Amino acid sequence: MKKQQKGILVILSGFSGAGKGTIMNLLMNRYQENYALSISATTRKPREGEQEGREYFFKTREEFEKMIEKNELIEYALYVENYYGTPRAYVEKQLEAGRDVILEIEIQGARKIKAMFPDTLLLFVTPPDAGTLKERLLGRGTDEETVVLARLARACEEALGIEDYDYLVVNEVLEDCVEKVHSIIQNEHQKVNRNQEFINRIKEELKRFSEGE
Ligand code: 5GP
Repeated sequence: MKKQQKGILVILSGFSGAGKGTIMNLLMNRYQENYALSISATTRKPREGEQEGREYFFKTREEFEKMIEKNELIEYALYVENYYGTPRAYVEKQLEAGRDVILEIEIQGARKIKAMFPDTLLLFVTPPDAGTLKERLLGRGTDEETVVLARLARACEEALGIEDYDYLVVNEVLEDCVEKVHSIIQNEHQKVNRNQEFINRIKEELKRFSEGE
């Protein structure tokens, strides 16, 4: 008889351009049955190729502020002049169902969630060096140069918070990176403090058997 563990809330943060989106896509393709990916709401305009409800739920500022008022977001943050937030209902439902939920969010949101749910697992993804990051942001070609500079400035600020995270994942070879993220999360399930019910049960069973049952 195996007691199902509650899902782990996992936050994947990292500098803009670190490859978080690609890592997430591969992870979801490969291990679909393990993970649920939370889709955020944002006031940012869709980039080319992005779809409503796939990358984000795209909202006007008014709509987003309504969601805040109605307590529909677990957390939200301003990032380079746009709001981003995590819808509450989906996350709670998936965790209860025993699935690990991954939030791909920036550092302010990560801190808020960790304060509310101290069991949250925090992963920070970084490219091997800053030059790679700049090249990726420019090469992506989806943002204007001023936006790229703002994102690099934001990366400087975010670097100050890396020590708040549990794991650092260097994205040098994409495939390896995806496997690293998967194994970190799977190992987390073996932590003693996440298995208290199992431990209590086996202690009780042992006691009963030792008493001759
Ligand atoms: P982008 O505009 O590149 O899609 O995202 C900008 C930043 O916002 C990224 O660092 C991304 O992780 C973060 N982000 C996306 N969704 C959320 C969210 O729901 N909450 C918070 N706090 N940050 C988010």
